[in-house]
Amino acid sequence: MNRHIKQLIELSKIDKEVDAFDPQIEAVNHRYEATLSKKATLEQSIKELDLECAELQQKKVQNEHYLSELSDKLRENKKKASDIKTEKEMKSLQLEEEIAKEQISFANEEIVRLDKIEQSKQERLNELKNSLEELEQNVATIKQESDVQMAQIDLLRQEVFARKEALVSKMNQKGLSYYQKIRRWAKNSTAVPIHKKACMGCYIVVSDKVYNDAILGEEIVSCPHCGRILYVETSKESAA
Ligand SMILES: [Zn+2]
Repeated sequence: MNRHIKQLIELSKIDKEVDAFDPQIEAVNHRYEATLSKKATLEQSIKELDLECAELQQKKVQNEHYLSELSDKLRENKKKASDIKTEKEMKSLQLEEEIAKEQISFANEEIVRLDKIEQSKQERLNELKNSLEELEQNVATIKQESDVQMAQIDLLRQEVFARKEALVSKMNQKGLSYYQKIRRWAKNSTAVPIHKKACMGCYIVVSDKVYNDAILGEEIVSCPHCGRILYVETSKESAA
């Protein structure tokens, strides 16, 4: 096989290695970002619950205020009772008193009800705050782990880049630009082997002439169907 073709095939393999780092980097980033987003969600829930508890407390204060107004009213009614002259006045005062007492019991019930709700929200709030504390520690650990993983990936990547640079510097410009033109659309299948006489890019069988040209490897052979660069993997083909 011609040296230039060997270089193209080698380059396509190195490019594949370079691209293989992307999902690894993505996975590392994803893990860290997912933890951050979980933390943000938790913080938001805590904020909302805090607000809800504050509203409940305010409602309780309003009810307590209302209660003290009602007891003031009852005290006043008692004073008025001594000045009552007619039965009609007495009945109306009794009615007022009954209503005030009903309202008092209602306000008391309402305070108990609000208390219960607030208590359960407070419990939930404490749970969330504990989870957040735990998660914050996790975030720190995951950040450290991510940094280490990224550094490892970066080292490996630098090694591959160095190999690519060394190879590209030896390659002829014409073959390289031909390769790059195909790579723009074919990505990691720019140079593909022929397997069982079919192009492993488009899986269409190639003619005997194309196949033989690829075995000879004297010049770049392109798939007549898809345009990818074709080569024959000698060890594989002889085994087949
Ligand atoms: Zn093809």
